[in-house]
Amino acid sequence: MPDTASLKIAVVGAGPGGYAAAFLAADLGMQVTLIDPEANPGGVCLYRGCIPSKALLHVAKLIEESHQAKNWGIDFPAPNIDLGRLRSWKEGVVTRLTGGLGQLSKQRHVEYVRGTAAFENSTTLRVAKADNTDASLSFDRIILATGSRPSVIPAFNIASSRLMDSSGALNLEDIPGTLLVVGGGYIGLELGSVYAALGTRVTVVEMLSGLLPGADRDLVLPLHKRLEKSFEAILLNTTVKSLKEDGNGIRATFDGAAINDGNREKVFDRVLVSVGRKPNSEIAGLDKTQVVVNSRGFIEVNQQLQTADPSIYAIGDVVGEPMLAHKAMHEGRTAVEAIAGHKVAFEPNAIPAVVFTDPEVAWCGLTETQAQKENRQVKVAKFPWAASGRAVTLDRPEGTTKIIFDPATERVLGVGIVGAGAGELIAEGVLAVEMAAVAKDIAMTIHPHPTLSETVMNAAEVFFGTATDTYRPKRG
Ligand code: FAD
Repeated sequence: MPDTASLKIAVVGAGPGGYAAAFLAADLGMQVTLIDPEANPGGVCLYRGCIPSKALLHVAKLIEESHQAKNWGIDFPAPNIDLGRLRSWKEGVVTRLTGGLGQLSKQRHVEYVRGTAAFENSTTLRVAKADNTDASLSFDRIILATGSRPSVIPAFNIASSRLMDSSGALNLEDIPGTLLVVGGGYIGLELGSVYAALGTRVTVVEMLSGLLPGADRDLVLPLHKRLEKSFEAILLNTTVKSLKEDGNGIRATFDGAAINDGNREKVFDRVLVSVGRKPNSEIAGLDKTQVVVNSRGFIEVNQQLQTADPSIYAIGDVVGEPMLAHKAMHEGRTAVEAIAGHKVAFEPNAIPAVVFTDPEVAWCGLTETQAQKENRQVKVAKFPWAASGRAVTLDRPEGTTKIIFDPATERVLGVGIVGAGAGELIAEGVLAVEMAAVAKDIAMTIHPHPTLSETVMNAAEVFFGTATDTYRPKRG
């Protein structure tokens, strides 16, 4: 085992992967330098990703619920939105959390350097600091956690202040009358939902045949149905051919099966392009190391997150999918433990994915889509939320909880949930998959009543054909 106290570690990039790695390295006694251009740690997730989007989605949910309250005999007047105060509230959330991470860095004696790092060789970085000075710093190990940025389609790269990527959309400069969202993935749907709740007429264009490609269709359906009501249009199997600044808006032209001369062109007040993210692997001087970048731009690593250069590790979005904060954090911790000489590997059975729309969609482990693709025998048990007391009290009966089992061993292989709060509920599924729980484990675990968490237990009961709250006799 290396003497951790004498190890000098640099972490390049202070997103969730980078700060999790830096903090653990400091906790294990290493001398840690964390380098990032922002004033405090946080990266994309805190400054222009997970956190600001969730703050705004919370507001969107409140507005949507105030409309739904009509069903319960409560009529709220239309909300009066003070955009300035909404923006400062969202920015306050970001400042509070990034400031907190700055404090945690200090408490752990992590040296936080505000700047951008480039390689001089495998163990030496040149850091161009925010104060316009630069320094050459040497380390025993370097962890790259440089993250990702929005993908750009060159043809859409028009000089227009109306064109936004996810960071621009989160700035919330105004509430446009109309918004075109290019891309029906989770970022487009989450941000589209925010604008729709604030009063914008939102059109989503997705070139594939369904929203949220990759997710099981039965989980996407209830979301699609609800979005059909809150969005002006959802155009599937459709591509945006061109975008052009057109006086008072951006003129978009569409192509696809459902597109005819009547709907081939439309002018929008703003356009959000959310067509995926690209890894930040073009780090200056990387060619002076042995690090290998693959054809998709991801840095190649082994299960210890070590690159082809023995002194360099890489974690988070820059090493591959799924590009999610919690994956980055766990990889960061694994890399540091590997550097500390612990026998570790990053080999999760389940990395949860959550789409924070309304309803939320969440899944982990094996999906039905994946099982079909791999021609794998599975047993799927579904519990409809219409039979959940809690879902009905919330007036949200459209959800479903399903568990994917190995038919031979009855082991939980995957869990998928659509419904209000699915993102919180999926954690039990992740634990079940990781702990190799079997159907009986879940069915026999007493869940509190009346809660949505019961639906996980109920889905396991469905597997046995004995769910109390729904009649689903076992077949075959
Ligand atoms: P990042 O967070 O991308 O941070 C990388 C940091 O490295 C940046 O600060 C960058 O400036 C810095 N950097 C880059 N190059 C250098 C260099 N040469 N020198 C110094 N610093 C450098 N994920 C979720 O799990 N849940 C969500 O709800 C969620 N919502 C999202 C919503 C939006 C709108 C977006 C855009 C993303 C969302 N994500 C979400 C994804 C999540 O933000 C990323 O997966 C996560 O931030 C990746 O963490 P990371 O540590 O790899 O890098």
